[in-house]
Amino acid sequence: MSEAQRVEEQVSQIGGDRCCVVCGYNLVGRPVVREPLYRLLIVRCPECGTVSPMQEYPSLGPWARRWAAVLAGGWFVAMLGLWALGTVVLVGLIGVCSTEGTSVARNEVSDAATKWLTSRSPDNTKQGWWQASSEDAIAWWVTQGGWEGFAAAHNGTIGLVNWGGFAVAALSTTLVGSVVGAVWSVSALNLRRRRLLLLLPVMLLWTIAFALLSVLDQSGLLGIQAYGYWALWKPIEEHLGTPLMFAGLGFAAVGGAIGLLVGRSVVRGLLRLLLPWPARAVFGVLWTADGLSPPRPTILR
Ligand SMILES: [Zn+2]
Repeated sequence: MSEAQRVEEQVSQIGGDRCCVVCGYNLVGRPVVREPLYRLLIVRCPECGTVSPMQEYPSLGPWARRWAAVLAGGWFVAMLGLWALGTVVLVGLIGVCSTEGTSVARNEVSDAATKWLTSRSPDNTKQGWWQASSEDAIAWWVTQGGWEGFAAAHNGTIGLVNWGGFAVAALSTTLVGSVVGAVWSVSALNLRRRRLLLLLPVMLLWTIAFALLSVLDQSGLLGIQAYGYWALWKPIEEHLGTPLMFAGLGFAAVGGAIGLLVGRSVVRGLLRLLLPWPARAVFGVLWTADGLSPPRPTILR
């Protein structure tokens, strides 16, 4: 048997995106073979038959590796920044869920408290509820029968929720949560789709911590005192604000989970829609990360 007759042996396969230099076909998954004549590692393009060598010239000097380290460090910092940004936005939004949802209750409390205060000191009709002392505020609150009495006079706790404002805030929280989740799903290409859900608690870590902080605040463990009319905000926060904040956290989690699960599909769809094929080929990893075949040139099919 002569040298040339020897069969090519497959030694490996292309693991990443590598496009044919002639026709641009993405060679990911194609076998790497040792051709018998020169014993060189090659890959054959299945579309046009072009042979590409697997050996490349060694890069000169240490700078290629240094730049790679700089880029990897930059990527790491960018990921931390995205984590912080997502946290700030989601913390803000669950706060809005709480403040929007309690706006009716706060208006009712301030209106009723103002009436009571002006009736007590008719000589100073300009005295507003915000000028009340803690003692006055609490004295009025006692006349209302506390939260139970006040809520009962307003169709119960449910009747004191600003549902319209809360719905808008909750919808925004879900939408933004899904965008944050989608960004995470595209950043964590090493994880398969189902595993991505494991990122949800990490993604929401500081948002959950913020919600728990408001519970700690109410329990008095943080030692934050409420003075003047702020004393009246405490029961509203306790009975309404905090539950609504946790509801907002739930909406953030639902949105985040949706974003993590469908984010990559949506990004792939957008790439298909907005980018012509050769430019799309470099994002092949978005396909192969989910076990899909990478984008191919449609003309050749
Ligand atoms: Zn080719």
